Amino acid sequence: MFKIGCHLSSAGGYMAMGQTAVSIGANVFQFFTRNPRGGAAKPVSPDDAAAFMEYARAHGIGPILAHAPYTLNAAGAEPRVRAFAEATMADDLKRLEYTPGALYNFHPGSHTGQGADAGIAHIVSMLDRILRPGISTTVLLETMAGKGSETGRDFGELRRIIDGVECGGVLGVCLDTCHVWDAGYDIAGGLDGVLETFDREVGLDRLKAVHLNDSLNALGARKDRHACIGKGKIGLDALARVVNHPLLRDLPFYLETPNDLDGYRAEIALLKSLREEARN
Ligand code: FE
Ligand code: FE
Ligand code: ZN
Repeated sequence: MFKIGCHLSSAGGYMAMGQTAVSIGANVFQFFTRNPRGGAAKPVSPDDAAAFMEYARAHGIGPILAHAPYTLNAAGAEPRVRAFAEATMADDLKRLEYTPGALYNFHPGSHTGQGADAGIAHIVSMLDRILRPGISTTVLLETMAGKGSETGRDFGELRRIIDGVECGGVLGVCLDTCHVWDAGYDIAGGLDGVLETFDREVGLDRLKAVHLNDSLNALGARKDRHACIGKGKIGLDALARVVNHPLLRDLPFYLETPNDLDGYRAEIALLKSLREEARN
């Protein structure tokens, strides 16, 4: 089944997100666990979470993807910055146990001048402190565009983080099509080759989700500016190949394109029309 959805506002709680998803033709969705710029999270309502889980089962929704605030930096040079990332993620993972089986995505972080090795070591030690084998959430490292000193532009860096963590079994990867393109992986001209590289350097069994975005910038630009589907440099044909690729088609796809709900509804309908089973 085609798992396709988009980023939604979490302001109204889980049930509201589930109903919004259904109303725009989505069967998965992503949301920020709290204000994307960080800060305190609204408490989870156990009743809302339980009602949503029931609704999700009835409507075939999921997996839901919780996105950590993008300002967190587990790789930062300052201990205070790393401590804030750790406390926030530990709290997010606790809250996600109200909706078991979720995915949790975070940006690995920026080493801010310490070098990639030091940044990776900080990320690994944080994950070692907060991950427990019993958690129901799968924690995903997002592939990054490589702005500034971002860790995770290179698939090999993701592998080093996963290999370094003791509870590495609960870790996976979320592939962002805009980010890998901006990082220099040519998913438009050579998707098979990029997936071969990913398999060799990380392992396709670790790939759990796709952020489906076009990019405003050229291959290798290291910019990270998302464009609407078919309106950027990756293009509609290439993104259609992504959602139909035999190695990707069973993954959940989450749009993070610059859209309001009507725009998302239209993109979801467009992508459904491009899925190969729809033509049979
Ligand atoms: Fe992200
Ligand atoms: Fe993303
Ligand atoms: Zn991005």
